[in-house]
Amino acid sequence: MTDTGVVLSGIRKSFGSLDVIHGIDLKIAEGSFVVFVGPSGCGKSTLLRMIAGLEEVTDGEIEIKGRNVTDLDPSDRGIAMVFQSYALYPHMSVRENLAFGLKMAHTARSEIHSRVAAASAILKIDHLLDRRPGQLSGGQRQRVAIGRAIVRKPDVFLFDEPLSNLDAELRISMRIEIARLHRELGNTMIYVTHDQTEAMTLADMIVVLRDGRIEQVGSPREIYERPANLFVAGFIGSPR
Ligand code: ADP
Ligand code: MG
Repeated sequence: MTDTGVVLSGIRKSFGSLDVIHGIDLKIAEGSFVVFVGPSGCGKSTLLRMIAGLEEVTDGEIEIKGRNVTDLDPSDRGIAMVFQSYALYPHMSVRENLAFGLKMAHTARSEIHSRVAAASAILKIDHLLDRRPGQLSGGQRQRVAIGRAIVRKPDVFLFDEPLSNLDAELRISMRIEIARLHRELGNTMIYVTHDQTEAMTLADMIVVLRDGRIEQVGSPREIYERPANLFVAGFIGSPR
């Protein structure tokens, strides 16, 4: 047992004969903001989906808050995932979108009400609760998607390129917003991106992936100043 946030031990993943994750060992400290970064196709989403329980591991073990969750359903892992596609229900109001998962889990009405109120306050979407997703801007929709994760009060937030559909300006403001959320909520956050700037600005710890393997783990500064190899240096854009 450990009080470490998330522990990955010997994680492998194959799709048929295609090996995509080749044995990942990683300890993620409770409350930290960890970014998985690497080129498209290197296995970032697959790794995140295994932590979420949306994809089975081929081999290895996943521990969250000292609990072996490897064989648990996604809903029993204490995680909530924010996807890049907004995946909001278009026929439901923002309030109903936020409440939906809690209703399905038979959460009491009063509890749903207070969690939706708290999440919409923290995301500053209180004034949008009666609108439908179609009446929202891209940034507002992304806030609702994050809100759906917050109302579940997860131990760990998992983000898969949540900002990649937004324009450059909005990406910067949402990035600042997500950093603020991390400060305010204090949860462990695992964030996947192929964008070096996002990684450098958000992370306490960066995990650089390439072809299903970890090339380097370190703080943004360590990775930038002392890249382990030419691949990391090139990808992060270190001098030399
Ligand atoms: P990333 O998120 O870093 O872009 P992915 O995790 O999506 O990478 O994909 C890693 C590799 O696994 C890719 O080669 C991809 O084609 C393959 N892959 C992902 N999901 C599946 C699947 N369900 N079936 C077969 N191959 C898959
Ligand atoms: Mg991906």
